[in-house]
Amino acid sequence: MLNVDDYRARILGSVEPLAPLNVPLSSAHECVLAEDVSAPWPLPSFDNSSMDGYAVASAEIADASAESPVSLTVIDDVPAGYRASESLRPGTAIRIMTGAPMPEGADAVVPVERTDAGVDTVLILDSVDPGAYVRKAAEDVVAGDVVMRAGTLIGARQMAILAAVGCGTVKVRPRPRVAVISTGSELVEPGTPLRHGLITDSNSYLLVAACHEAGADAYRVGPIIDDEAAFMTAIEDQLHRCDLILTSGGVSMGAYDTVKAVLSTLGSVDFMKIAMNPGMPQGHGHVGEERTPIITLPGNPVSSYISFENFVRPAIRLMRGLPDLDRPILRARCAASLTSPPHKRQFARAVFLPSGDVAPVGTGQGSHVLGGLAESDALIVVPEEVTSVAAGDEVTVVDLRHA
Ligand code: AMP
Ligand code: MG
Repeated sequence: MLNVDDYRARILGSVEPLAPLNVPLSSAHECVLAEDVSAPWPLPSFDNSSMDGYAVASAEIADASAESPVSLTVIDDVPAGYRASESLRPGTAIRIMTGAPMPEGADAVVPVERTDAGVDTVLILDSVDPGAYVRKAAEDVVAGDVVMRAGTLIGARQMAILAAVGCGTVKVRPRPRVAVISTGSELVEPGTPLRHGLITDSNSYLLVAACHEAGADAYRVGPIIDDEAAFMTAIEDQLHRCDLILTSGGVSMGAYDTVKAVLSTLGSVDFMKIAMNPGMPQGHGHVGEERTPIITLPGNPVSSYISFENFVRPAIRLMRGLPDLDRPILRARCAASLTSPPHKRQFARAVFLPSGDVAPVGTGQGSHVLGGLAESDALIVVPEEVTSVAAGDEVTVVDLRHA
């Protein structure tokens, strides 16, 4: 049996970062930038008002106060998006809105709150310093500055500056497209009444959601019955559509384990047992002329999820071009005792307690126990050589609290 780390290294060796491509900015969210982006123009690109008020020559209103206001003739009105058609002359002011360009001759803005808000003439009730309430061109970004480096993950906060410097399209490593194929003649769609012996397909829902959380664009295929021809057709249909195929089920030692039977004959998919619990039967390799990577996950939902966390999530992150592939790992006290099979690394579903300790959840650590999975936000990692953990022992924990 291979250990978890060696198998993970094999999986990571079988995928590579996706080739960069130009996408519209609106499609770049959660993609990794593939080239440095510099600003073609400064930010702000022109001097503009930071308040609704009156553009003035500050020297003219140096003595203004509530007791002795200065009266100015309002000669123009500039909303954002327009330019003043007049230049400021002695004794005048120009009404200006936030974001509008500063008129010629004005060096400051008096906020409307410090005036009588007049339309034809305005009483200025306060003095302002030169430059007050003016956002100077280039005070934020100088033209030519690199505003974002290749390798940056484009989240909401990164979107704003890319848009501000005019990136209609950006070169990114795209989100991997992942086809999730669940197999099993016992599987029906949620919402379908269950006949005896049938179960609903939970894995494909779990895996598609987990792929999305890992930053991939995943979609469901199936469920596909345990029939070699049906499975083969499902695989062939997906080859040109996706960057990674995930299958669930059909990789154990059973007589109807179609996935294993079909993919073994293709020659470039390896099946093996990994020294872990849950999730022992695994397979990975490539299929089709374009050698699309494929990872075959075991059918038990918890096994599928634990396998996803260990092998698929880091593979997706590698394909996205992200530098860190793993979730945060920390040490915490285990609030209850646990047993673990010998020679296998166990990933026990657990929750963080308010104290920071972790407590195992569910009615046991069986690979079919879905209840505990839904409750969990942590995985306790019990090493291969450890077969029991006592309450109060310190354990290694994978923190699942953030996507
Ligand atoms: P298998 O790996 O195909 O032998 O499946 C192992 C166990 O997982 C069996 O009890 C299956 O019924 C169950 N199983 C397989 N696929 C799914 C699925 N997509 N959703 C829920 N349970 C599944
Ligand atoms: Mg099956």
